[in-house]
Amino acid sequence: MKYIVVTGGVVSGIGKGITTASIGRLLRARGVEVTAIKIDPYINVDAGTMNPFQHGEVFVTEDGAETDLDLGHYERFMDVTLSGAHNITTGKIYSRVIEKERRGDYLGETVQVIPHVTDEIKEWIRTVGRTSGADVVLVEIGGTVGDIEGMPFYEAVRQLQLEEGRENVMFVHTTYVPYLRAAQELKTKPTQHSVKELRSLGIQPDAIVCRSEKPLDPGVVRKISLYTNVPKRAVVDAHDVEIVYEVPLLFEEQGFGDYICERLGIDAGEPDHSEWEEFVEAVREAEDEVTIAVVGKYVDLPDAYISIREAFTHAGAALGVRVDVRWVDSEALEAGEDSAWEEVREADGILVPGGFGKRGTEGKVMAIRYARENDVPFLGICLGFQLAVVEYARNVLGWEDAHSTEFDPETKHPVIDLLPEQRGVDRKGGTMRLGAEPVLFEEGSLLRELYGREVALERHRHRYEVNPEFLPELEEGGLRFSGRSPDGRMEALELDDHPYFVGTQFHPEFKSRPNDPSPPFIGLVSAAAGKRPS
Ligand code: GLN
Repeated sequence: MKYIVVTGGVVSGIGKGITTASIGRLLRARGVEVTAIKIDPYINVDAGTMNPFQHGEVFVTEDGAETDLDLGHYERFMDVTLSGAHNITTGKIYSRVIEKERRGDYLGETVQVIPHVTDEIKEWIRTVGRTSGADVVLVEIGGTVGDIEGMPFYEAVRQLQLEEGRENVMFVHTTYVPYLRAAQELKTKPTQHSVKELRSLGIQPDAIVCRSEKPLDPGVVRKISLYTNVPKRAVVDAHDVEIVYEVPLLFEEQGFGDYICERLGIDAGEPDHSEWEEFVEAVREAEDEVTIAVVGKYVDLPDAYISIREAFTHAGAALGVRVDVRWVDSEALEAGEDSAWEEVREADGILVPGGFGKRGTEGKVMAIRYARENDVPFLGICLGFQLAVVEYARNVLGWEDAHSTEFDPETKHPVIDLLPEQRGVDRKGGTMRLGAEPVLFEEGSLLRELYGREVALERHRHRYEVNPEFLPELEEGGLRFSGRSPDGRMEALELDDHPYFVGTQFHPEFKSRPNDPSPPFIGLVSAAAGKRPS
């Protein structure tokens, strides 16, 4: 087993996740089996209890874990399917260690960060590697070197190299190289300092990935190489690119893939990036442009909806359409702000994503009504699906007070209600209906046609669902539930007399890949572009 540990310096949020995912792609292109682990040094057990403003979207895995959004990058770039075990947090490690201590596993010992916590971290990494069947395990440590919370993890990976051998563990350090406009130059000092910090922990990087606004010039490369003790060919230029999917190709051009294989003694063939290049080309060359208004609550932070954004890129590439996503604040719609309504009116399609909490829900209902009444292509996901049912109940069936009991527990028309199995659940962590479950599409429905099959496994994350009590009346009133779970719960809806009006209780965005775009997104983008999906 080989390990590539990716660390970060200078600032967080510079794209360590994309760097890790891109290294994964370099190896996959050489036929090497690879998997990835994200370490988040926060104390939360998982990302599920955090607001998207904290770390962006909560990515849901097939097995129903609520994880960091970097797992989404790994799945999309590496074309692998990961489980919750691929996201390690301080919370998970400590829970395990404390559980063992209570059980008496350490009887007689003082339980300490070194060796007990670090052993647990190494054990976790090795187990994931073993069970995944991969040849190479990528391990990305979140945050930046020097963060107090991260210390046990840096120590654990240092020990990992000692135990597994230098030839089996390499370190890639991702840094930020700022461009100073006044001096018109790229500055290497922050990189020098962060490498110094890393070395003080006993870790010598084997490669430095330099994030910057501009390409690195040879002088900068020379300097970084000299000060960090990393060969020049391993100082990798990762300047800003227009399309994130270009990053693996940018790495390949610089010989980074070959360097990694040499360093780890991986005997791999020539890389084949042809499919990937075709995809990047399709994204770049897309000619028709459509505008989609995404009406949500976390619009100031597009990372909150990152899988949705990527799903549009994948669908757009497949259809030859450039999707221009406009983020519209649902509260602004609610308040009747002209500029927000202008965005909605100008859009070729509308998407209402998932969400929690009452704030902004009325604005979403307004956007859904606008889409329904004006024949504007619409996709509602999770909360967006639930609110489409609410909107229909209110404005078509005339049940003015219809709502989800999440927002109005007293309504006489609780068309969306807490799942029966959720009653009595008072713990918040990991207790929703989570993960992939089968959805059955009705014969003759649009979704059945888009999916091209009767059953699809799609991922879920919710507590409320369509209330079966109101089902007969909703259906008689013209709402078509075209997707159901095997036990008869409502999973998807569509309207027949509309160009494209679809809602899904599940989250199709999590399974969208460059080579396998998500069918409901294909449907939305093609309807918005006035094309037939092919
Ligand atoms: N808040 C809703 C529920 O819990 C929708 C969740 C979501 O959109 N992910 O059912």
